[in-house]
Amino acid sequence: MSSLPYSYDAPESQALFDRAAAVTPGGVNSPVRAFRAVGGTPRFMVSGKGAYLTDADGREYVDLVCSWGPMILGHSHPEVIAAVQDAVSRGTSFGTPGEGEVALAEEMVARIDPLEQVRLVSSGTEATMSAIRLARGFTRRTKVIKFAGCYHGHVDSLLAAAGSGVATFALPDTPGVTGAQAGDTIVLPYNDLEAVHEAFHRHPGEIACVITEASPGNMGVVPPQPGFNQGLKDACQANGALYISDEVMTGFRTSRAGWFGIDGVVPDLMTFGKVMGGGFPAAAFGGRADVMAHLAPAGPVYQAGTLSGNPVATAAGLAQLRLLDDTAYDKINAVSEQIQTLVTEALTKEGVAHRLQTASNMFSVFFTDRPVRNYEDAKAQDSFRFTAFFHSLLANGVYLPPSSFESWFVSTAHDERAVQKIADALPAAARAAAEATAA
Ligand SMILES: *Cc1c(COP(=O)(O)O)cnc(C)c1O
Repeated sequence: MSSLPYSYDAPESQALFDRAAAVTPGGVNSPVRAFRAVGGTPRFMVSGKGAYLTDADGREYVDLVCSWGPMILGHSHPEVIAAVQDAVSRGTSFGTPGEGEVALAEEMVARIDPLEQVRLVSSGTEATMSAIRLARGFTRRTKVIKFAGCYHGHVDSLLAAAGSGVATFALPDTPGVTGAQAGDTIVLPYNDLEAVHEAFHRHPGEIACVITEASPGNMGVVPPQPGFNQGLKDACQANGALYISDEVMTGFRTSRAGWFGIDGVVPDLMTFGKVMGGGFPAAAFGGRADVMAHLAPAGPVYQAGTLSGNPVATAAGLAQLRLLDDTAYDKINAVSEQIQTLVTEALTKEGVAHRLQTASNMFSVFFTDRPVRNYEDAKAQDSFRFTAFFHSLLANGVYLPPSSFESWFVSTAHDERAVQKIADALPAAARAAAEATAA
């Protein structure tokens, strides 16, 4: 796929990619970055400012990835950078408690009612892994329900996404995950409450928790149907299981209080990452104080981290959260809607079948004429049209996620100039999507 028609010049990126491939599997440190889904040379970025990224060949792009969500104020926001510089000047890690982590936890707890206590970690993966362990320790049960198409990081037991049949025991999706780890995971179709009820019925007293993305963005944007999250919560409560809402992507992005701020369904535990780290590795899990009390050193469930609550990461996260007031969210929502309208108009004009799906200011395009309610629906789209659409936009300076199964992200820094650049690039991209043929 690195052949024509997508091999316009990116010589510096290609040279870096070749060097990377010699020392790193596939040349990347996180798989989607390698452009395998769309082909071509992944762009190596050297700097970011506001809504723009600049690559190793000196090309500038309007960034619609925003580091997969964290850069909600745009790149190099002066107040976030100042907070980081101030923190760095006092040292970078102490391995002791510090005030920064307390202040970040206080800010999070103040924003989200059901979040009574939090524990800071360094990645979303650690957050979900630890939340699952805590749920198992608290309930003294082993099984976990997750939904096909929901991503919760690369936790062994949560990589199981195959087998969308009701209460099917998933087989490991990836070598290296044991049957035992995957066997305790029950994978169900998203937005299917009946499947959840049946799973609880088939495994009485065995299910520790249900984990779900608060509003999924990892199979493209597929919001919960009205009542779905509340139904999950009710089913958990009726069966003595915990309801874990994974807000790593939606947290502090979809509203001040994340997706909880939108649907108000009260989880037992929640997980966070991305926005709360301000572009640094900071993440968290938390929720009910009586459940969190089971965590070491207060309780017996072990969890720890050398860099947890790191002073630089927490300073960046706190500075970012403090700037995210109602005005900021209004701005992000407005620019998101503007871009959504432009995309819909361009694709409609070229007669390209598509569904633009939204969850607050998160959105993505599926190349299909049918509503997408779960992973099966998402996989049924014409992904080859996305490939053509993606490369046309890239060639014209707009950087989309390099996969049709990802949300697009905007920031407060996406101004009129950025929107205009997208508007200028869209007609050709829509034409490319219309003319694309399956490989
Ligand atoms: C990104 C993401 C994760 C994993 O976070 P990492 O920091 O990449 O480990 C978990 N859950 C959801 C919903 C995510 O979007």
